Amino acid sequence: MEDFIGSMIRDRFANTEYRIYPDSLHKVKGKKVFLFEENGTDYLMATSPELGFKGQMMDAGHEVWVKAPLDHENAVILRSLFPFTVPSRVLSKNITIGLGDRLGLATPGHIRVFNKYEGVFPIFAQQSIRELMLTNRTFDDVLDCVTYAVFKYDFRRPWGADGDHLKTAEEVEYALSRGYTMLTLDCSEHINGKVDSMSDEEVNAACTLDDEIRDLYLNKTFDIGEGITIHFDEITLKRAVMIYGGAIDHAVNIYHKYVDDGNRKVADFELSIDETATPTVPAHHFFVANELFRRKVKCSTIAPRFCGEFQKGIDYIGDIDQFCEEMKVHSQIARYFDYKISIHSGSDKFSIFTPSGEINRGRFHIKTAGTNWLEAMLLVAKKDPALYRSVHKYALSVFEEAKKYYHVTTDLTKIPDVDDLKDEELPSLFENNDSRQLIHITYGLILNAKNSDGTLAYRDRLYSLWKKYEDDYSELLYKHIGHHLELLLKKC
Ligand SMILES: [Zn+2]
Repeated sequence: MEDFIGSMIRDRFANTEYRIYPDSLHKVKGKKVFLFEENGTDYLMATSPELGFKGQMMDAGHEVWVKAPLDHENAVILRSLFPFTVPSRVLSKNITIGLGDRLGLATPGHIRVFNKYEGVFPIFAQQSIRELMLTNRTFDDVLDCVTYAVFKYDFRRPWGADGDHLKTAEEVEYALSRGYTMLTLDCSEHINGKVDSMSDEEVNAACTLDDEIRDLYLNKTFDIGEGITIHFDEITLKRAVMIYGGAIDHAVNIYHKYVDDGNRKVADFELSIDETATPTVPAHHFFVANELFRRKVKCSTIAPRFCGEFQKGIDYIGDIDQFCEEMKVHSQIARYFDYKISIHSGSDKFSIFTPSGEINRGRFHIKTAGTNWLEAMLLVAKKDPALYRSVHKYALSVFEEAKKYYHVTTDLTKIPDVDDLKDEELPSLFENNDSRQLIHITYGLILNAKNSDGTLAYRDRLYSLWKKYEDDYSELLYKHIGHHLELLLKKC
């Protein structure tokens, strides 16, 4: 490395605290580009202005170097020079994992995991519109953080970028315009949830089947292989039409307008019907998939709502045998139409990982997000107990507000008082489901909390702690996400 950097730059850095990231040393067009840290901030260095990076010109003897901030403009240039820093479509790979990183700090730890599991492909950039809004971030920012991390640690395998839970045409356009390679269309606003509480008589009276649907489905049984059949009696069919008809139309319109106009497919497409009050029954899953197939929508993944509870940041709640029985049917429907099952809210669902991997025969997508944030807060509890206590109390004070955005059954009375815990006991809060959820769903409010004078109460202090202990954070994620993968792959 000394050779690469040369004594010139070493002398230039003589009066500052700096470290160069050895894996970031790259050559392009005969010039060198690398990342380094100076006084707690990362920068990019290019050994010639000709590469186009915008920053401070530095006299390096016989050449001029550019010290560039890690901003969006420079990320765009980096992507144009180094193709491995650009996301690609990876959803057709057998096992893919979405890794929502709300802080823009988790990718280094994730890279370590994926260096170990070479058969698994990451969607490093994955953020929903709701998460962007709650964290004041943009799709550019989310992607740029990944681009720099991938460059910094020289991750050479394909990885993707998912515009998660997009609901409208505008949101789809936004994700595509920022180079996202996967679109997750959330059709929940077009799903008619009221039908679940209607009686059969009411459904019969409210729905008239059109001839085409009647001919295709009514009293028909579909053999989808492996001894599994799907049957449509009149009421099952009418419920399917009433609940999912609008969602199917929405998906068809979006798909043909933005994803594949018949000539070229521009992104991997996932349909999410998971954010509903009741589970997706297998016949309805089949109906949605078959209608999309008929109308020439090629999904890479579909996310049904499974039985039981997939609450944020804690293990699965429900009957595991029933989950497995239903997953077998969902999984067979997916194989029949040639797409993968996508499991949302997949963080920390340890008790169903191994059967899910096995039932899906090593071909599935799973999304995690909040657990990466929880590991970051665990780090705060370990390294700065006073700061953690203050954030924790703030989270308690805003919990009701945060609950508007998430479905959880948190019981705040089961969380011990942080003032009664010794410093070294604080990390144990992250083994308590109720306090995990407390911290999980309040992330946006914590990051944007303001003091009475309008300045941010926690954000900068938290970020400087995470920067200071970035290797510890990486280690926590390596273990925690690694544990997810170990269980998921156990019987694949
Ligand atoms: Zn979801």
